[in-house]
Amino acid sequence: DNLPADKDTTTTRRQVFDAAYSYVTPRVPSHAKLLHVSDDMADRLGISSATQSAAFLNLVSGKEVFPNTTPYAMAYAGHQFGNWAGQLGDGRAINLFEILKDNQRWTLQLKGAGETPYSRNADGLAVLRSSIREHLCSEAMYHLGVPTTRSLALVGTGDKVLRDVLYNGNPAYEDGAVVCRVAPTFIRFGNFQLFAARKDSKNLKALADYTIHYFYPEITTTGKEKYLQFYQEVVNRTVEMVLHWQRVGFVHGVMNTDNMSILGLTIDYGPYGWLEDYDPDWTPNTTDAEGRRYRFRNQPDIALWNLVQLGNALYPLIEDLTSMELVLNSYSANFDIAFPKMMQEKLGLTSTYDEHFQNELIALLAISETDMTIFYRNLSQVSKTDSSEEAFDKITTAFYHPDKITTALKTRWLAWMILYLEKIAAETRTDDERKTAMNKVNPKYVLRNYMAQMAIEAAEKGVYALIDDLYRLLKNPYDEQPQNEKWFAKRPDWARNKIGCSM
Ligand code: AMP
Ligand code: MG
Ligand code: MG
Repeated sequence: DNLPADKDTTTTRRQVFDAAYSYVTPRVPSHAKLLHVSDDMADRLGISSATQSAAFLNLVSGKEVFPNTTPYAMAYAGHQFGNWAGQLGDGRAINLFEILKDNQRWTLQLKGAGETPYSRNADGLAVLRSSIREHLCSEAMYHLGVPTTRSLALVGTGDKVLRDVLYNGNPAYEDGAVVCRVAPTFIRFGNFQLFAARKDSKNLKALADYTIHYFYPEITTTGKEKYLQFYQEVVNRTVEMVLHWQRVGFVHGVMNTDNMSILGLTIDYGPYGWLEDYDPDWTPNTTDAEGRRYRFRNQPDIALWNLVQLGNALYPLIEDLTSMELVLNSYSANFDIAFPKMMQEKLGLTSTYDEHFQNELIALLAISETDMTIFYRNLSQVSKTDSSEEAFDKITTAFYHPDKITTALKTRWLAWMILYLEKIAAETRTDDERKTAMNKVNPKYVLRNYMAQMAIEAAEKGVYALIDDLYRLLKNPYDEQPQNEKWFAKRPDWARNKIGCSM
């Protein structure tokens, strides 16, 4: 391909010009241990029978480079928290090679396998806790039907990683780990922004041509029209991705433009979190606690903001502001149609969107500190013949503080329930049909922070079984799993306001 490689092959931190990537060799772990494999991903790649082999571990740990392949780290830039950050790049991600399987192209990438020219002031490593979170959540999101990068394997490196957390004045060492991520490509908005910022139109064009050729083969136009259509496609896929996030209650936490996939995949599972008590202003990212730029309800707007930045980067290839504005306008137009539809589906309604009714629900969920997942799931139990009291009783287990539901608040809930009962009575669907439909869009099991935390704490003591238990649970997030009912539970008190981790 015409994408230029960096000529300097060292890992010296530097600005890399005139190149889309730099060759890097993964660091050899001192004692690699395979902690978990996604059998589903292995299946997709056609390598299931090999995952217990030494060769597989050598590959996914970075111990050995596959013959005749040249691992590389990509150069990219980006806006972080709204500010231009210049060159960033894969600071701790190394692409190994691609697998072509059933006409699908998959890049395997190691995260945490050592330094690259883009590591800036950091070490290129990842700790066990953040790696468990990334591995489990990537796969959980996939099974929820959310467009996402995947994770094939989780490996302990046997190395200690220094993080700047100080206990009693002592440096805190943690267990190191590597995650083998998988995606058709890991190209981000930021890859385009890097060349655009440097006014490197030649490489900007080469990158766009490469991306379209391999990942948007449906685009058959030529010239400026081709890049415009490409932009439109990225917009469409990004809307789709964010809608899914809002549907399942996922908060990404770091929607910087370098964390936006050009394929509209959820990428970079750092401080992400799940909405538990329904607070639209919640963000799992402590470094964003002030402005809450990346709070739950801002995600659709931020995705649009990021798409504007992508538009700025692609402008030299299109040079048609009017057409580009139309593409951008389609984001809101699409969203304004799809979002109400999705919200109605969550309630099991086929009728048109009732804004007042939906807004009242959001308000009630927030004021009542209601668990989002449990609420929607339990609402599917409501029957057309229920009284408003009976219907209300079915959702009260979703309240974090049932004792704080005042008489006035309950009256408001009952008023909402009366409307809901009227709406479902007007539906031609039976209770069972509605319930089945609702349970397809409202997951029963999500990777709540405390669940990941329990798996992490066990793993830090050398016990890895819970990782696989959660992986299996989250493979069928919409199914009733009676043996796993314990995971259909509100966040325990000890986990209140706990945040994720990104290091
Ligand atoms: P993030 O906010 O996780 O998307 O990271 C922003 C940038 O910092 C990316 O370029 C990452 O590759 C880089 N980065 C994050 N953590 C590390 C690390 N431990 N070592 C090297 N680079 C890192
Ligand atoms: Mg990132
Ligand atoms: Mg990250």
